[in-house]
Amino acid sequence: MKNMSIRHKLYILILIVLVPLCILQTMGIFYRYEKAVDKKLFANREFAESLNLNVINYFNLLWELEFVTGSTIIAEDHLHDPDHMESILKAVQYRYLEDLSWVSPDGTVIASTVPHARGTHLGDQEFFQQIQQGQEKGVSDLMVSQITGQQTILVVRGMYQQGRLMGVMVAGLKMRTLDSIFSSGRVAKTGAFGFVDRQGKIVYYSGKPDLTIAERQFPSDSLIRRALQGDVILTRHFQSHLTLEKQMGVFIPLPEVGWVIFATVPVAEIIDETITFTLREILIFVIIAAISFWAAIKISNHILQPVGKLQQVAISISQGDLSARTKIRGNDELAMTGMIFDQMAERIQRLETGREIFLQTAAHELRNLMAGVKGILALIRRKIATGKPLHQIEDKFEVMEKEIDRLSSLLNQILEAFRIQREEGLLSLNFQYVNLVEIIRSALIPIQSMVSQCNFILDLKTQKPLWILADNQRIEDVFRNLFSNAIKYSPNGGDVMITIAKVEDSALVSVKDVGIGIPAEHLNRIFECFHRAHHLKSNDPGGIGLGLYICEKIILSHGGTIWVESVEGKGSTFFVQIPLHVAEDPSIVNL
Ligand code: ADP
Repeated sequence: MKNMSIRHKLYILILIVLVPLCILQTMGIFYRYEKAVDKKLFANREFAESLNLNVINYFNLLWELEFVTGSTIIAEDHLHDPDHMESILKAVQYRYLEDLSWVSPDGTVIASTVPHARGTHLGDQEFFQQIQQGQEKGVSDLMVSQITGQQTILVVRGMYQQGRLMGVMVAGLKMRTLDSIFSSGRVAKTGAFGFVDRQGKIVYYSGKPDLTIAERQFPSDSLIRRALQGDVILTRHFQSHLTLEKQMGVFIPLPEVGWVIFATVPVAEIIDETITFTLREILIFVIIAAISFWAAIKISNHILQPVGKLQQVAISISQGDLSARTKIRGNDELAMTGMIFDQMAERIQRLETGREIFLQTAAHELRNLMAGVKGILALIRRKIATGKPLHQIEDKFEVMEKEIDRLSSLLNQILEAFRIQREEGLLSLNFQYVNLVEIIRSALIPIQSMVSQCNFILDLKTQKPLWILADNQRIEDVFRNLFSNAIKYSPNGGDVMITIAKVEDSALVSVKDVGIGIPAEHLNRIFECFHRAHHLKSNDPGGIGLGLYICEKIILSHGGTIWVESVEGKGSTFFVQIPLHVAEDPSIVNL
């Protein structure tokens, strides 16, 4: 993981989110499939139970019919008149019945709707023997009727008079009509239902009404056996011996007649039904997952793009290309980082450029000064060698003195600037209550004694002292720097107007010259360390770009501000604003 790129880590993150979603979705699909199967099984069971009622109702109807018919025969005393009995039987024969017969208690057919059936003996049949043994009504298993010779089910009812078995009504079902009697609707498109008799033979199967004898027999190991023993069986899976398909369904015992009802559906049908919506769900899920994955990759690429850019620019800068920038724009954290990074690079570039300019200008300035001093010294040496009096070149000593003063002022500025930078703008100041007007007057004295074409005018807008809490030496340095700059950058001379005013709770001083001015593009950088607006220009009077930097730091340390207004070629006005303080104890006021 440590050595992996952020891109790969993001991809893993995306997968961490997507994989559980896929697992959940797959589990959901299986769960819904199981639910669909359960639903189908439940529907099958309900269907089978409703069939159960249908069948019992139907048999009850037949037993009732038999009872009414048998009772009529007994009541009208037609027991010895088979012809009349037959006319009664034919009159009531229900259209779903194949035949209806009156059988004597010993099992001989006395009268029947079937011609020539008289005399047929049913006494050896199990269902008949049960009636003989006292059972009131019953239903045979699927059998070949001795009366009709047809495969049928016989519905029998013993007819009693004062507890004595008078005869037995036997009705043969029309097997072909079973479908119309029972099919009240199917559980599924290809679902089927049916009845199985006590022997495990299919009495009726809706899927194929004309079954062969062999097909009718359920295998001995099938679930039907358990259902015949009275268990309700619900199965999700069994092999049908009729269709050879995998089926699911229910087997419900029918205790009144000892049969079993079954309702089955091919598993393939459930799969077909569920597969359609499952496939649709899978398809939708795959599309959504693919779109999410694609969007996640796009977003991660979008997120990583600035990171890559940052990395690229950082490498360029580390290799010395200080002009490289990320140019990332936007409002998010990375865009902000990019912008801060660009600002940082900008600052490094400026400092680097400043450092270069400083080295160049400082070297240039120092060389000029040293050359001047050296020239004067050479002159003095020549005068001494030729025995000429030194008083003739007294003025040269003065010049040398000034040059050395300038040199020491330059060195002071450099030391001061480095100290400010090291102490991050914090200056150690000696605060006192001082009158700003006096400080400015004192700063003017050495300037006015300088040989200059400039004429300094002091315009006092207030006659009152302007008390400030300040390090008077530092404040004097600031104004001395501003005054000497005014002279330095006014090669043609002109008035330098110094205005001192009280504005609200502050003192506002402006120093206005009519010199070369400052080009507009330099105005907001003029207070930066080493920044010089006229560097390498023909009108550059020389300097190292530290004076205003130090001035600003001093003014800021006094809670004030300094700014400049200038028009190139017309002159500049520097403004200094310092908060005023009222001296609480005049004895500590240092004038
Ligand atoms: P230096 O004068 O040694 O270069 P400063 O920090 O005093 O350094 O001034 C910075 C720059 O501001 C100067 O190089 C000059 O270009 C410009 N500047 C300062 N004062 C004036 C002025 N009064 N008129 C025109 N330009 C000025």
